[in-house]
Amino acid sequence: MTSERPQKALGIVWFRRDLRIADNAALSAASSADAAVLPVYVDDDGQESARRPGGAARWWRGRSLVALDDSLRALGSRLIVRQGSPQAELDSLLTETGARSVYFNLRRDDAGDDAALIGWLRQRGIGVETFDANYLHDPLHLRTASGGGFKVFTPFWNRLRGVYTPLTELRMPKRLEGPAHWPESVPLDTLQVTESWTQSIARAWEPGEHAAQQRLAHFADELAAGYATERDRPDRDGTSRLSPHLAWGEISVHAIWRHLTRRLGDKALPFVREIAWRDFNMHLLHDFPDLTWQPMQAKFTAFPAKDHPALLRAWQRGQTGYPIVDAGMRQLWQTGWMHNRVRMIVASFLVKDLLIPWQRGEEWFWDTLVDADPAQNGGNWQWVAGCGADAAPFFRVFNPVLQGEKFDPRGAYVREWVPELAKLSDGAIHQPWTAQKAQLSAAGVTLGQTYPLPIVDHAKARQAALAAYQRISGRGTGKEQEPSLFGD
Ligand SMILES: Cc1cc2nc3c(=O)[nH]c(=O)nc-3n(C[C@H](O)[C@H](O)[C@H](O)COP(=O)(O)OP(=O)(O)OC[C@H]3O[C@@H](n4cnc5c(N)ncnc54)[C@H](O)[C@@H]3O)c2cc1C
Repeated sequence: MTSERPQKALGIVWFRRDLRIADNAALSAASSADAAVLPVYVDDDGQESARRPGGAARWWRGRSLVALDDSLRALGSRLIVRQGSPQAELDSLLTETGARSVYFNLRRDDAGDDAALIGWLRQRGIGVETFDANYLHDPLHLRTASGGGFKVFTPFWNRLRGVYTPLTELRMPKRLEGPAHWPESVPLDTLQVTESWTQSIARAWEPGEHAAQQRLAHFADELAAGYATERDRPDRDGTSRLSPHLAWGEISVHAIWRHLTRRLGDKALPFVREIAWRDFNMHLLHDFPDLTWQPMQAKFTAFPAKDHPALLRAWQRGQTGYPIVDAGMRQLWQTGWMHNRVRMIVASFLVKDLLIPWQRGEEWFWDTLVDADPAQNGGNWQWVAGCGADAAPFFRVFNPVLQGEKFDPRGAYVREWVPELAKLSDGAIHQPWTAQKAQLSAAGVTLGQTYPLPIVDHAKARQAALAAYQRISGRGTGKEQEPSLFGD
């Protein structure tokens, strides 16, 4: 007689924006429950409920899913990928495999509220276990004294610091038992984005959990101690570049917090405070689901911004004639990422110098950022546009020349991304139109030919933006003359 081991109960672990094995609450719970585990990812692109990830983010996801599948295979398991609505795909997997439970980490973004899906699973007689593993604190339980959501960052941060204790490190599964029969899976190749524009992005990044952990270790060893002073310098390698890893959940925020505070104590605070901004934006999105397209301050719906396709194109292509803006937009196009300081500069330029609706910028970032995330993108665009909850005051208009001179003082960042200006002096690099003819010609620059003249006069643009703002803020007469910026 052969003794067959009885088949264990099967639990589905539904991966979403948590593409990791370590410190993954859902996976850890399923593997500790003495159950066999079916790891699943559902690509719901194109379903009504979800905004399709942009091109760069899809490139990242494709690679990240391959990395996750590799890690699962090392544990004796594999990733099952399905395409369609999560409810329909989970339904068919439950039927096909006889799984009796589903484990997943909750999302607090445009996937909407998970409550309906949880209700449906329970009604179907399926056990459901969910976890708050993707952010520091669940928005439902971090509220102001009056029970509302926080709308200002500093009180949010003070409160969060007071109540937060990092979750203890979770047990890493050493081996994952699978189902008796593996259900069909969409080949991972189907989700790979391979167009030629992805090549330079692929040279800049390595998606996946292993790379995320290496990046954290490098940051903790080499950069974290200097983060507070270096973080605003796009010409230096002073930030963690963890954002796309975090956006796809390849590393847990709790693990980052634990690692850095253990290593640096209070010196880690400037960094973990930035991680808290990520949480803050998720909380805003939870309370204001239209964050990605609707101004939080209602008066801004009347703001007289208008579409201007030619100017938008110049901005997207890094051809505005303002070197720091162009450097940022080209870094974005070529690598799928842009330094935070420069994101603020280019966003301010689109909204306040070009008076183009901030939503056009949000859409471009959505398509081109590897770290594109509804809460972070929407929240930050609203912050720069001045229409968010805890926004920069609208009248603070970034001067692209002064910003460049302050944060890229030797022009190294501009030289890297706008090589046609590389030979200009430090004094001229952020405002080439002020350089003497002889200097321009010695540097091989012909303005209007090898590099554009400024597409807008910043001083006039600033006045126009402030006049437009006065009109909606009720402080103006409504009759101010708006200077003509573009001759149209
Ligand atoms: C207009 C605009 C749009 C943005 N869109 C996104 C986006 O889609 N996705 C995204 O992850 N970030 C976005 N950001 C925030 C920020 O620019 C990036 O998180 C940061 O540049 C990522 O680089 P890093 O990982 O080296 O950051 P670090 O300085 O090393 O910070 C560590 C982590 O803290 C978080 N963080 C840092 N700054 C912010 C911030 N301002 N808001 C929220 N979280 C922050 C990120 O998760 C980041 O990875 C946007 C900022 C602006 C101004």
